[in-house]
Amino acid sequence: MDTTSRVLKLPEAPREFALWIDGRPVAAEDREIYTRHSPAHDVPVTRIPMGTAEDLDTAVAAARRAFDDRRWSGLSGADRAAVLLRAADGIRARAEELAYWETLENGKPIAQARAEVGGCPGMYEYAAGVARSLHGDSFNNLGDGMMGLVTREPIGVVGIITPWNFPFLILNERVPYILAAGCTMVAKPSEFTSATSLILGEVLAEAGVPEGVFNVVPGLGPVVGQAMAEHTDIDMLSFTGSTRTGRGLLSAAGSNFKKLGLELGGKNPQIVFADADLEDAADGVAFGIGFNAGQCCVSGSRLIVERSVAAEFADMVAAKLARVRVGDPLDETTQVGAVTTEAQNDTILRYIAQGRDEGAELVAGGAPVDLGRGQFIAPTIFAGVTREMAIAREEIFGPVLTVMPFDSLDEAIAIANDTDYGLAASVWTKNLDTALTVTRRVQAGRFWVNTTLAGGPELPIGGFKQSGWGREAGVYGVEEYTQVKSVHIELDKRDPWIS
Ligand code: ADP
Repeated sequence: MDTTSRVLKLPEAPREFALWIDGRPVAAEDREIYTRHSPAHDVPVTRIPMGTAEDLDTAVAAARRAFDDRRWSGLSGADRAAVLLRAADGIRARAEELAYWETLENGKPIAQARAEVGGCPGMYEYAAGVARSLHGDSFNNLGDGMMGLVTREPIGVVGIITPWNFPFLILNERVPYILAAGCTMVAKPSEFTSATSLILGEVLAEAGVPEGVFNVVPGLGPVVGQAMAEHTDIDMLSFTGSTRTGRGLLSAAGSNFKKLGLELGGKNPQIVFADADLEDAADGVAFGIGFNAGQCCVSGSRLIVERSVAAEFADMVAAKLARVRVGDPLDETTQVGAVTTEAQNDTILRYIAQGRDEGAELVAGGAPVDLGRGQFIAPTIFAGVTREMAIAREEIFGPVLTVMPFDSLDEAIAIANDTDYGLAASVWTKNLDTALTVTRRVQAGRFWVNTTLAGGPELPIGGFKQSGWGREAGVYGVEEYTQVKSVHIELDKRDPWIS
């Protein structure tokens, strides 16, 4: 028995939240309230006012004022960096509170919520450095009479729409970079997980982010999200969510041709060669599909494994997953918590049933885990999967792994690329040539060699193919929120047009 277990208490009453507009909370008043129940405990944990299209207009107007009067973009990179560094400390100071509410709304294990929040201050510190180093270019080769400059300018007012799987992390993979670029913004979190985005408003205000620069309008996707996509005073929209919703935003964003950043779905391969450290790879593959109950756009959901070790390796992964602690996310020893929404729970169970109906062989899991309350699903493995099966092609967004064997390097690459998606991929091998060939030929925006789900502020994220447009994080992530201007400077007298 694990004697190190510590279980946090549920809140006595649901916490009340307000909207965050123009640097201050805006009380719910007569707005509709969404009462969020913990998906692990079935008790109400937060009460979130559902913003309206008018609220969005108010927030966008605040962001527009803040952008146009240059209260943020007019500061030096050094001054913006100082605020970003204070924001990093502000998140650290409230990390336990942020992790607690993230767990209650999302259902993820508290240890993982702490790690998620713990990764965010570094984003601000890194972005602070980029705020100071961001620069354009100059052309000194245009002849003695002419000089050219290329300057980077903030793109303007940014809308951010985030999903419920990593509400705080995904927001913070964007906000500090957008701030570093000098933009202002309005964020709309998923209605299921708004708490930590709203707390961030307070943190940023205390750090010195000026009023109107960061606003949060919680609300429903088809109401606030859709209005955001259509809004003609938003210059860029960063959307993270399903490919289906992302596709719908394309025409809405045409209202003013706003720039779109899209991080969408994935059906990410884990390619395992027989020469890999199989023990390490089995642990990585189990982590890649079990982490966050498989509700990651970068989950490694397709195991593509060399035939000579395929059966043995699937058993190794199954043995690992059998030991994973599925349970109360408020227990510090839990590794897999609840499925976040009822709809997602139904979707995952429907795919499991479909996998069985299509003739795949269930190797592990395949059923809900009954803990007396909440919704939990056992990590599940299907072998005997063919490329045509829905479980091999469609993003399930749950702890469901499909196993497909391969006989050659070319076949492994072909199976890996046989998908509409291109978000992430992992390769496990001790052969450098194999690792690099696979990394070069498989289409994915993020790659892991002999590891999975690694990340950090320095490296950009984003997808190939139908997994999205643009990149977030890293220097690339700041540059996405800028536009370039070219300047020709006459140093002499122009050749007259009319003499
Ligand atoms: P999921 O189906 O996993 O919830 P979504 O793509 O629907 O993923 O949700 C991601 C985010 O997109 C959420 O904040 C959601 O409220 C928002 N959203 C949903 N529908 C729309 C829409 N029509 N327009 C804009 N945003 C939307």
